[in-house]
Amino acid sequence: MLLDAAVVTRCRRRVHLEHDPAAATAPRAALDATAARRIADAAAHRRCVADQLAGYHTADWAEVSPGLPAEQRCAATLALLIGRAPFVWGGLLLADPQSGRRGGVELLVRHRGGGYLPVIVVRHKVTDPGSGARTSSLAQPTLASTDPNRKVRPQSRDQLRLAHAVRLLQAAGLAARGRPTGGVIGLEADVVVWHDLDAPTWPGGRTAMAEYDARFTDRLAVARAAATEAEPLAQPSRITECRSCPWWPLCGPALRESRDVSMVLRGEDAVALRAAGLSTVDELAALDPADEPPVPMAGMPFRDAVLLARAWQRDLTLVRRNRRVTVPRADVEVDVDMESFDESGAYLWGCLLSGSDIGMPGGYRAFATWEPVPTLDEARSFAQFWVWLTDVRCRAAARGLSFAAYCYNEQAENRWMLRSAQRFAGAPGIPAVAEVQEFITCGHWVDLYGVVSAEFLCAHGKGLKTIAPAAGFSWHDPEASGENSMRWYSDAVGLGGAPPDLTQRTRLLTYNADDVHATRALRLWMSSEQVNDVPYASDL
Ligand code: SF4
Repeated sequence: MLLDAAVVTRCRRRVHLEHDPAAATAPRAALDATAARRIADAAAHRRCVADQLAGYHTADWAEVSPGLPAEQRCAATLALLIGRAPFVWGGLLLADPQSGRRGGVELLVRHRGGGYLPVIVVRHKVTDPGSGARTSSLAQPTLASTDPNRKVRPQSRDQLRLAHAVRLLQAAGLAARGRPTGGVIGLEADVVVWHDLDAPTWPGGRTAMAEYDARFTDRLAVARAAATEAEPLAQPSRITECRSCPWWPLCGPALRESRDVSMVLRGEDAVALRAAGLSTVDELAALDPADEPPVPMAGMPFRDAVLLARAWQRDLTLVRRNRRVTVPRADVEVDVDMESFDESGAYLWGCLLSGSDIGMPGGYRAFATWEPVPTLDEARSFAQFWVWLTDVRCRAAARGLSFAAYCYNEQAENRWMLRSAQRFAGAPGIPAVAEVQEFITCGHWVDLYGVVSAEFLCAHGKGLKTIAPAAGFSWHDPEASGENSMRWYSDAVGLGGAPPDLTQRTRLLTYNADDVHATRALRLWMSSEQVNDVPYASDL
């Protein structure tokens, strides 16, 4: 029984299924396009970092070919480590049958005092503005110092991966002496961030090593019980990870069949209720929502949990919280939807103008750049969007008309408006940050996600793609989703060296236009009598 680092952050039931002989032939969901793209992007990022590092350390650089069979990769890695190679990329460490560990690490760096330090390369942010992180340059990775400009962004998964590598190095007698330490190179790939894995930085004063050891011991027990067909140590429970888990075709029907309480509650609340003897949706639905909760609830108020359970029993997507649904409306209305590509930039601001005549053409218009982000051309498209929006506001005000702009889940739009104002400060048409801030807080910028949350209980989630169909809206593109739009964007601008695919630009514009039409349809429906057809929660 050999487990890699992923098990310590993976669903326990998944670890069970991956080792249960009875599940070997069970149907599994194929890797979706989004996950495949993430994997490809991560691989490209790792290669890019490797090339950068190899450039700094030409004479000291060694790579273990990923194409080799595992045994040969292990042997090649070991030979390099015994030979005291300063930098080993792509190493696969000797499996440790005694502890049940196996695995590799992107980079092994020889320490001045002997032995190796593991460094992983990840495609997410690992620091935030601030100070106090221990960092080193890629040119001199082992010369770490306290960074005056960065603080560590807590990423527990990274530290647990490093702890796994440290334990493997220790088992092979190849770990650097001293406190267990490991490095991370993040999305920006500008520094190595070093973690003291024995520092009591985890909840309850625990260390990363202690947390890792406890989790690994647990997952090993789960896997062994599964492999020997003993009493299972892990049962399914719906969590966020289920959405992208290959085992959902097995767990989903089982959870529905057993009417498991996690179908309406996720994570810790479902665990806590089960521990209190409430394991089904029906048992939860039978409680009085006005009573005190049987256990403290972390994810949602107890009343909502009971009413959601009742909605689930009746297969209702939505129920009204209030007898009368209200949504802010205005004479002049603009629905806004921004498209961004990961952390790289915001490439499209789509707007739908409707309402009273203000001497401007109504309907949809897009402010886009098709140069791959990040690009200075983003400044042009953002400035055009801002100038247009400001013009709409001014014309409405000049005519004595009320104005409102709408989006769905304002966090992304707000973040990119503020970030664009910061990044392109001083460029033509770019507003001051304070001007953007004034707009965000002016009261006329309405987050429909917040309105939906206040007005409805949603048994299947509050995403626009889930809610807008209740208002009779549907998207032209059957594959429309934020995740898929990333792939379309990649093709639309020719990331990865392929020629830009113009049909994907059209697809993105259609998708964006549909999103703003969806928010408009949603608020028109919420303002209409039809919304009263949605059952009222307290009537259930
Ligand atoms: S579908 Fe959910 S419960 Fe089942 S193994 Fe995957 S993450 Fe775990």
